[in-house]
Amino acid sequence: MTVVALSGGVGGAKLALGLSRVLPEGELLVVCNTGDDFEHLGLCISPDIDTVMYTLAGVANPELGWGRADETWSFMETLGAIGGETWFRLGDRDLAVHVERTRRLRGGMTLSAITADLCARLSIAARVLPMSDDPVRTRVRTDQGWIDFQEYFVRRRCEPVVHELAFHGASTARAQPDFMAALRDPDTKAVVICPSNPFISIEPILAIPGVRTALADCSAPVIAVSPIIGGRAIKGPTAKMMAELGMTPSAGGVARRYDALIDGYVCDFADMDQVAGVSAKVTLAQTLMSTLADREALARVVLSAARMLRR
Ligand code: GDP
Repeated sequence: MTVVALSGGVGGAKLALGLSRVLPEGELLVVCNTGDDFEHLGLCISPDIDTVMYTLAGVANPELGWGRADETWSFMETLGAIGGETWFRLGDRDLAVHVERTRRLRGGMTLSAITADLCARLSIAARVLPMSDDPVRTRVRTDQGWIDFQEYFVRRRCEPVVHELAFHGASTARAQPDFMAALRDPDTKAVVICPSNPFISIEPILAIPGVRTALADCSAPVIAVSPIIGGRAIKGPTAKMMAELGMTPSAGGVARRYDALIDGYVCDFADMDQVAGVSAKVTLAQTLMSTLADREALARVVLSAARMLRR
């Protein structure tokens, strides 16, 4: 019996941690967005996989919201001092992961196999998969033209106005086979769309051929958790992007974006009046995950909503 969770970085990882703690060992499969992946300083960087991996392993940096705890910055400081590029910060511990991932990818290993091995070494019980082993790269059309995702997200701090998003490589990418197998498996008990940014974390996954159809055909209920609470994102550009793309930045707006894809929708008590007319079955809950107990409680809410919705 598997629960499949689709996740971006921070918001998704929080719920994934909750799910991993309330589900029996081995029942969670986390599928991560790789549209944020990029090559930088000669290294292959997979930010969402790493955030999920570090969070599940208990080694994530709680202050920064990305990277690793107990981090040191000798590499970055030295790089800056000799005139290198420092806009994308890489801590020393984190750097080791990128160096090793890059070495293995260049040696022909798949991102799936590398991720599985890193997770095993970090003693993570859940399975963590990239959405695909083929490269997909999110691009953003802004006032200043098309730019790469990390250029928009990190270097320009999400300041440019977003008009359009594109997922380069998605149309020819092959969805990760174990992900697709889990969607076809009659024993899968729920698919959870984590409270991640719909446009840059979830839609790259949905853009891979076959994923939307497999979700529609899946015998398990598909339940999304709102990344918007009280009309605002907890972190990141979700609400700003929605407004720029012509949508109402609200929990209802996110539900309508997922529309026919979802059977259930979990949103905050604060957004009760935003979800009238949403066709999915709505469950109201406390969705702010400040503590570990909050993450577990929300995971239980999602799993119990799934139980009620078994197709
Ligand atoms: P990123 O790839 O690091 O940007 O991470 P995600 O796409 O997974 O997460 C960003 C989204 O997570 C934002 O829209 C946040 O509002 C949402 N988020 C972060 N923390 C929480 C939380 O505690 N509860 C809920 N419901 N959403 C959250």
